[in-house]
Amino acid sequence: MITGTTQLLGVIGDPIRHSLSPVMHNAAIAHLGVDYVYVPFPVATQYLGPAIDGFAAIGLRGFNITIPHKQAILPYLHQVSAVAQAVGAVNTVWRTEAGWSGTNTDVEGFLAPLKSLDRDWSQAEVVVLGNGGAARAVVAGCAQLGCAKVSVVGRDRDKLAAFQASWELPNLITVAWPDLTECLPQAALVVNTTPIGMSPRVDMSPCSPEEMARLPATAIAYDLIYTPNPTQFLRQAAARGAMAIDGLEMLVQQGAAALSLWLGQPAPVEIMRRSLRQYLGWE
Ligand code: NAP
Repeated sequence: MITGTTQLLGVIGDPIRHSLSPVMHNAAIAHLGVDYVYVPFPVATQYLGPAIDGFAAIGLRGFNITIPHKQAILPYLHQVSAVAQAVGAVNTVWRTEAGWSGTNTDVEGFLAPLKSLDRDWSQAEVVVLGNGGAARAVVAGCAQLGCAKVSVVGRDRDKLAAFQASWELPNLITVAWPDLTECLPQAALVVNTTPIGMSPRVDMSPCSPEEMARLPATAIAYDLIYTPNPTQFLRQAAARGAMAIDGLEMLVQQGAAALSLWLGQPAPVEIMRRSLRQYLGWE
């Protein structure tokens, strides 16, 4: 029940109407019985500053940030975690006495399903498809895992060069899309960070059948997309015998990490996962 003492959490973005975060956070809040509510806030780019001031004025406890504000939020923060600085983007903010603090829980969310596997990442070569915002969280995650080599594949050579220059990682290389076939046979992990294959264009995959034919059966295919489930990319990988990981777990785990930061207690991960699966009609 929302009462006079209920504290506010939320998510800002533009658009925000498709965000799944209110579903899983409010399910978790109800399960824990804490006096909070999590609200979607549509905030257009030109209103970011006034919105942040307004959040301080009304005592909002914390919020998530999605497209297009993940980088634009940085100047409004008093303190930014090392991981968010490495990624260059913030997705979680909380209020302190000194001002707003921010971090990036996408890295933790991305890593959670991989850490649950018994793998030696120090020998692993990773192929990252795409070089946008999510790819940055993936690269930071692979650096934390200590992966032997990370190849970031993109279609725009200037963007690839800028991506490479923004990291100080000796084992990171960037690769033009036509050279993807050379990287795949050595890959232990291939991560799709492009939107190719996302609903409604569900028949598309970032990799051609010829490219996928080069993926080892021992590899893990990880698609950050969560609808449809599975994506065409994950179908192709499963047909090769590879392990498939979909994007829902990353979504759940980045949310759980944010909620536990705000509440100072562990988040009910299974409740959050089930609320999304039910909302999406998967169970
Ligand atoms: P973004 O910053 O726009 O990056 C998208 C990347 O995909 C860019 O490098 C872009 O290349 C590339 N790309 C787009 N269309 C392409 C095409 N037809 N061929 C080749 N490359 C293409 O987006 P983002 O924020 O990183 O998000 C990417 C995906 O990850 C989305 O589907 C998003 O839903 C998903 N995601 C999931 C989670 C999760 O929790 N599961 C979290 C974050 C993101 P150019 O730069 O050359 O345009």
